[in-house]
Amino acid sequence: MADSEDSPATVLCKSCGLCCTGHLFLWARLKSSELNSSQAVGLHVIRDDPRQRGFTLPCPLWKGQCTIYSSPDCPRVCHSYKCKLLKELDNEDISLPDALPVIQQAKAMIKEVETFLPDSRNGSFRQRLVAHLELMEKATKKGSLELEFQRKAEELLKFYEDKFGVNDLVDKPEESQFVE
Ligand code: SF4
Ligand code: SF4
Repeated sequence: MADSEDSPATVLCKSCGLCCTGHLFLWARLKSSELNSSQAVGLHVIRDDPRQRGFTLPCPLWKGQCTIYSSPDCPRVCHSYKCKLLKELDNEDISLPDALPVIQQAKAMIKEVETFLPDSRNGSFRQRLVAHLELMEKATKKGSLELEFQRKAEELLKFYEDKFGVNDLVDKPEESQFVE
């Protein structure tokens, strides 16, 4: 919940969290020096592959807002990453009252797409979306439900790109954009 003294950027991010919750990205990058402290605070750290040093999303420390944001152990990427919408807010290209409905719309679109995805208990939204899209692409016969899913998924991806500047949904860890 936003406090009355929160900055517009903080109000926006507290109302959103999509870059923490696995809706936009699969993982976020960590510096080598942050691996141990991040693991100690409860992040799911990946460290085997030098191209992929980071932690997986959804982040377990998102509880309606970040629970370690003011801690010195909060990863640097969490303070430095800004999606397109947040940059526009910072630059005063968009006002907070105009930016907040963008988040609401993204969440509503995600909710609709979610109803088409098979298993909501395992994996991030992004992971399941990519898997289902790939399945649909391979399907030789598509009914109205499959076509509707594809249409809604494409609309969501376009929205991600237009509003958040997230322009790919490739399911490869090294292509996370949640980087400094
Ligand atoms: S996606 Fe953008 S607006 Fe949402 S929490 Fe992340 S930086 Fe903030
Ligand atoms: S540590 Fe906080 S800001 Fe970083 S991904 Fe997790 S919830 Fe988001």
